[in-house]
Amino acid sequence: MRYPSIVFALIAAAAAASCTVAQTDDPALVAQAREIHDRVTTLDTHVDINPDNFLVDQPNYVNGLETQVDLPKMEEGGLDAAFFSIFQGQQDDFTPEGYQQAHDLAVAKVEAIHRLTSELAPDRIGLALTAADVPRLQAEGKMVALMGMENGYALGEDITNVKKFADMGVRYLSLAHSGFSQLSDSHAGETEGYRWNGLSPLGREVISEANRWGVMIDISHPSKQANLQAMELTRAPVIASHSAARALADHTRNLDDEQLLALQRNGGVVQVVAFDSYLTIAPEPTPERVAALTALGEEFGLPNDGGVRAALRTLAEERRAEYESRMEELDRDFPPPPWAAVSDLVDHIDYVVDLIGIDHVGISSDFDGGGGIDGWDDATETFNVTLELVRRGYTEEEITKIWSGNLLRVMSDVELVAAELNAASPE
Ligand SMILES: [Zn+2]
Repeated sequence: MRYPSIVFALIAAAAAASCTVAQTDDPALVAQAREIHDRVTTLDTHVDINPDNFLVDQPNYVNGLETQVDLPKMEEGGLDAAFFSIFQGQQDDFTPEGYQQAHDLAVAKVEAIHRLTSELAPDRIGLALTAADVPRLQAEGKMVALMGMENGYALGEDITNVKKFADMGVRYLSLAHSGFSQLSDSHAGETEGYRWNGLSPLGREVISEANRWGVMIDISHPSKQANLQAMELTRAPVIASHSAARALADHTRNLDDEQLLALQRNGGVVQVVAFDSYLTIAPEPTPERVAALTALGEEFGLPNDGGVRAALRTLAEERRAEYESRMEELDRDFPPPPWAAVSDLVDHIDYVVDLIGIDHVGISSDFDGGGGIDGWDDATETFNVTLELVRRGYTEEEITKIWSGNLLRVMSDVELVAAELNAASPE
């Protein structure tokens, strides 16, 4: 994080999307992009959720929220499928209590997605457990929910938890988040130091278990060394569920060329993420702007540890309108640094395609977890990504691979490896 998260969140919350159909676009090209967008399966591999948004008889994911993703927004934007993130942070210590707390939150998130697909809206969205489930559910006229676990901290030191979460429907797993876990070093180790010089002994066992139970290993958050070791060790292809190319934006969350080339050899896929500070290294906001944003946030009682969108939602309508007009004024007085746009996202896609080929790249948003860029700031704007791909000359076949084909290929490869491992040594 380069400056206090409240400032970052306020910048994101304040910026207005403008990257839509441009005056200069040929109407035939736009019409072609619309047709392609309608035909391809669009799949986003990283959307965060709050389990409280999946309760009955109140505003929820089905009837619509202020979140960047919910069912009405997915329908409006033609976002067909999403991996919902079973994310939990971690305690500083590695105690049974800390593990239990994270485990319980992970289970609550899994249950929220089960409730969505079995109780709240089973006629509109289904849970996919296999790659083949995705087209099957779509043929039934449904959107598709999938689940991926972000941070293996919640597994604790009990290796059987890999199968337990796999049985609940979790289909990818990252071994760490923004700090080392009992399983792996994190990308943050570059500045904070490493604990394991890559994977821990338990982390290595977890990779074997994930291979056996058909869970894709996600290399978005662990350290470079951990990722190279994971790709050496795994029997199946891996994914990076939400990262970009480090050659274009020097951020620890991005994959450098060495990791991308290893990913190509591994047969995996990097899901380029619509996260402002991973796509472009913007100039720092002026100290005057930071001071003004901090003061405004304090005045309106907004948290300084993220969650600004949620806090804004709790303000009375009048107070919120007042906040918005004050924010506009502040943007005029102290202009924000430029925000990454859909064209930056596709620059990263182009870069990955040039380096490792069209078969190893996909798309993710990190919506409701810090993601969102100019032109794709919520699920309703998903078409803009397809439009930019068409503008760059990608064919429908290539766009199909980028939007979901590559990811589903990896998912089905992982299923095959699991079936082979189980046939070789049954449980
Ligand atoms: Zn993340």
